[in-house]
Amino acid sequence: MASVEQHVEQEILQAGDRVAEASETIEAEVPVQAPTQAPPTGEIPVENPATGETVRTVPDLGADAVAEMAARGRRAQPEWAAYGFDGRARVLLRAQKWLMDNSQRVADTIVSETGKTYEDANLAEIGYAGNAFGFWAKNGPEYLADESVKSSQILVKGKKLIQRYRPLGLIGVIGPWNYPLTNSFGDCIPALMAGNSVILKPSEITPLTSLLMAEGLRECGLPENVLQIATGRGETGAALIEHVDMIMFTGSTKTGRKVAEAAARRLIPASLELGGKDPMIVLSDADLERAANFATYFSMQNAGQTCISIERVYVEEPVYDEFVAKVSAKVRALRVGNPDGGFGTVEVGAITFPPQLDTIKDHVADAVQKGARVIAGGQQVPGVGRFYEPTVLVDVDHTMKCMTEETFGPTLPIMKVADADEAVRLANDSPYGLGASVFSRDAARGEAIARRLEAGAANVNDAMINYTVLELPMGGAKTSGIGSRHGAGGIRKYCSQQAIVVTARMAMKKELFMYPYKTRTSRLLAGAFKLMYGRGKRD
Ligand code: NDP
Repeated sequence: MASVEQHVEQEILQAGDRVAEASETIEAEVPVQAPTQAPPTGEIPVENPATGETVRTVPDLGADAVAEMAARGRRAQPEWAAYGFDGRARVLLRAQKWLMDNSQRVADTIVSETGKTYEDANLAEIGYAGNAFGFWAKNGPEYLADESVKSSQILVKGKKLIQRYRPLGLIGVIGPWNYPLTNSFGDCIPALMAGNSVILKPSEITPLTSLLMAEGLRECGLPENVLQIATGRGETGAALIEHVDMIMFTGSTKTGRKVAEAAARRLIPASLELGGKDPMIVLSDADLERAANFATYFSMQNAGQTCISIERVYVEEPVYDEFVAKVSAKVRALRVGNPDGGFGTVEVGAITFPPQLDTIKDHVADAVQKGARVIAGGQQVPGVGRFYEPTVLVDVDHTMKCMTEETFGPTLPIMKVADADEAVRLANDSPYGLGASVFSRDAARGEAIARRLEAGAANVNDAMINYTVLELPMGGAKTSGIGSRHGAGGIRKYCSQQAIVVTARMAMKKELFMYPYKTRTSRLLAGAFKLMYGRGKRD
């Protein structure tokens, strides 16, 4: 009998064949456009965090350059909207194929500017974007289709009622450094599918993937200036908000507040995907081997620099020692270092953002100073590049930063709790509410606990998987964000809603309620309301 692995492999191969067949039907009808260069006002060096070398420099665009980009983007948008769903989907599906054809180049670029492993670049970035191109091309038209509405309101009987979505115009996307493809570029895909033009401001730390993707989309026939990349620092992002019709921001809660304030001043919508401090709860009836593997992988994956990393674990007392032993053995076995040898080189790559290393060191030192024990790792890796050892902390509590503030590094603090209620109380004792996990062999009990967690997403016997399900909304509770990506709301947010009422049939010269007011007619209407709405009870 075939093993589960063989079955999955077979599925992947079959899916590959289907995709190959489908891509052959995509014809190159739209002409390829030449890239546009905005004038640089300075240069930003992009560093490879694994080697310390400068990969290349990018322009640091000022407010004037952003204003010019916005004007170009606005001019380009009507033509792109006129492509219609089919035309836009065709470009996105070509881009999906382009991404797979250029996956090595894209992975090399991601790894060069983030220092993450090729596995992290492939699974959580290229895999995500490949799926997203197809998902929005296929589902965008359905999510944005005109909806015919029925109403119980008697005054509109016989009228045609429609709810429709139309592109807002020019969307600004501002992204973080931890996932240059998934979190910076990824949000451009539904915005484009909805018929908008987009200006993407990637993090100054990791702008190269966005520039490469824009090049790829131009090759796939995206009209000039429909997607522009505004390289620059925070000021460039602030300038962008002044020109767009909507801002999609992913980054820290601190910057998110500034973005929300700027958007409020302009009265434009803002969708904010912010920081997290995701808890994992391990109940005493959990499959401990699975729970330990998940805790290890999802705290260390991408060197812990994922908004929905497992950042803290609460374990019921009876299984605490066994869980800690399993996790610490697994974490100690991880290899950390320069990932440039390709797949299989190391499990844990570099710390991408220089100040993040200080935060990680500060959180570990603070915990140790307050009584925590380091049972794996606990030090910066000496030598070239920016690396931190995969670290496990025990004897931790909520007086420590490692349990209450976003660490964003390869650290895993594990805390013993008396029971599930204490675990839920501590999990919710956070200003953040992005993701959460519960492990229990009793799935119904796990789900009941998941429902009590103040998080935008909660996985039972799983972690992070919700992010890959593009049909589900992904967004934060509390200070982890406002709005969400994915699902119907993940594309409708790039549109304005319009209600259309068409009176075609039974159009009288004058409606009953119009002037002049007459006692009899007004009484008749008041009586009708009582008849319709006054038959309930007040018990
Ligand atoms: P930051 O908030 O520091 O930066 C995010 C982006 O905002 C960058 O492009 C930055 O530019 C830009 N920026 C900085 N200041 C301003 C400003 N005043 N106006 C507009 N834009 C500005 O976040 P990080 O890049 O450090 O990313 C890490 C954070 O992102 C973590 O908190 C993580 O949890 C969160 N995140 C959340 C996700 C989610 O889905 N909820 C997903 C991924 C990450 P520059 O870099 O050039 O300074």
